[in-house]
Amino acid sequence: MAQKLKHKEPTSGQAPATVSNLPTNCKADGCKKKSEKMDFCAEHYDWFKWGLITRDGQKPIDFDKKYQSFLKHKKAA
Ligand SMILES: [Zn+2]
Repeated sequence: MAQKLKHKEPTSGQAPATVSNLPTNCKADGCKKKSEKMDFCAEHYDWFKWGLITRDGQKPIDFDKKYQSFLKHKKAA
């Protein structure tokens, strides 16, 4: 009588990988929202379009300057 051998795999350590780098979350620093476009949430995608944030979620050197014009534009709109 043949009995199928069951490969027993260790089930320990089955926790999901770190959540810090999930592509479904907004890349912006400290942002916990879900990404909607280009790995950014709607708000930070706006930032990306304005150059306030790089593709990798980093702030550019002249962030402050850009952020000010961004705010001005938002007020004017
Ligand atoms: Zn975001």
